[in-house]
Amino acid sequence: MRTQVVIVGGGPSGMLLGQLLHRKGIDTVVLERRTREHVLSRIRAGILEQGLVALMGEAGVGDRLKAESYLHEGTLIAHNDQMFGINFQNLIGQSVVLYGQTEVTRDLYDAREKAGAEIVFEAEDVSLHDADSDAPFVTYRKDGEARRIDCDFIAGCDGFHGVSRRSIPAAVRTEYEKVYPFGWLGILSETPPVNDELIYANSKDGFALCSMRNASLSRYYVQCSLGDDVGDWSDTRFWDTLRHRLPDEVGEALVTGPSIEKSIAPLRSFVSEPMRWGRLFLCGDAAHIVPPTGAKGLNTAASDVHYLYQGLLQFYQEKDSEGLDRYSEKALARVWKAERFSWWMTSILHRFPDQSPFDLRMQAAELAFLRDSEDAQRVMAANYVGLPY
Ligand SMILES: Cc1cc2nc3c(=O)[nH]c(=O)nc-3n(C[C@H](O)[C@H](O)[C@H](O)COP(=O)(O)OP(=O)(O)OC[C@H]3O[C@@H](n4cnc5c(N)ncnc54)[C@H](O)[C@@H]3O)c2cc1C
Repeated sequence: MRTQVVIVGGGPSGMLLGQLLHRKGIDTVVLERRTREHVLSRIRAGILEQGLVALMGEAGVGDRLKAESYLHEGTLIAHNDQMFGINFQNLIGQSVVLYGQTEVTRDLYDAREKAGAEIVFEAEDVSLHDADSDAPFVTYRKDGEARRIDCDFIAGCDGFHGVSRRSIPAAVRTEYEKVYPFGWLGILSETPPVNDELIYANSKDGFALCSMRNASLSRYYVQCSLGDDVGDWSDTRFWDTLRHRLPDEVGEALVTGPSIEKSIAPLRSFVSEPMRWGRLFLCGDAAHIVPPTGAKGLNTAASDVHYLYQGLLQFYQEKDSEGLDRYSEKALARVWKAERFSWWMTSILHRFPDQSPFDLRMQAAELAFLRDSEDAQRVMAANYVGLPY
């Protein structure tokens, strides 16, 4: 079998790229290791920058997002018992929207199915071959049968644990990593959110985040130890911890209920350079990870998709490889800024095990500066709503 672009991974990066290319008449095959149901059961990101919203529109899947997403004009930041707001709309005239990653992916799956474009679920043993030559190909197994797809390009959209990044020889790659000494315990509950806006809270007992999916579905997180197991956290322990980390007035307004999902995510900053090797292009979590503080993971995956999509269009429509040749450089320039912002948000909002009294004062000064300086708020707002592509 032959196609123009093999997309490894049917997460949001791979599906968005596939849909954008399909609309321009560029053939793709998506290879996904899991089932559709499995991918759609993963509860992850929820805050979308305008760049991703625009890409969804360009991919022809913006209608439900437009109708069902919630506009977030700002955010709230709590430090112990004090809380202040940062209004992005007033500061820089832009906002973000809330629409779950699961819904983004569902819309893209539905669109691909409707278009009749090829997607192989439960593709096993996906292997990339000759990616540094002019004739790359991908092999995999489906229902026990070995298959091969020849192609012009391979888009490695298979996340942090995928095969694509590891297919680039170690001698070619440089990896940068910071592992944080804590995790996030998150729950989903069928309760009304405690506030219309997200609340990021730094308390003396650690970080907490109040987020939501819609008017009756809340997503809450608390900083936890790396060694913790979900089984250690009863719902009661979770709600008590969360309430304790929020300013009194917020804690008192918190509506609790049984969790319908509970998971622990480690926090990591990671970048692998370059994002291109021959005819293989890495996109999204395959090349970089950010801690979720600041909601940049999915959004940074989307900016990669933008650069790769533009590069492929330029190649197929204008026979010009400039966009592809500069893909890694362009994508990484934006990736590192998102890495910086996520690292900064994480640094000012969490309690670190080895923090000295001086470190705590610095954190308090950072938060006070952000509270009191409109310039500092404008910088934060520009990063939070998303830097331009
Ligand atoms: C627990 C968790 C919580 C998160 N919360 C947030 C958040 O609140 N805000 C935020 O902005 N970001 C968050 N993120 C990050 C965000 O979800 C990711 O940045 C986003 O999913 C990246 O999309 P992707 O398509 O690049 O990778 P993925 O979503 O990881 O998709 C990769 C796909 O490739 C498939 N795959 C893997 N290996 C292979 C293979 N060998 N062959 C074929 N297919 C393969 C996988 O099954 C998967 O479907 C979170 C991530 C996690 C893990």
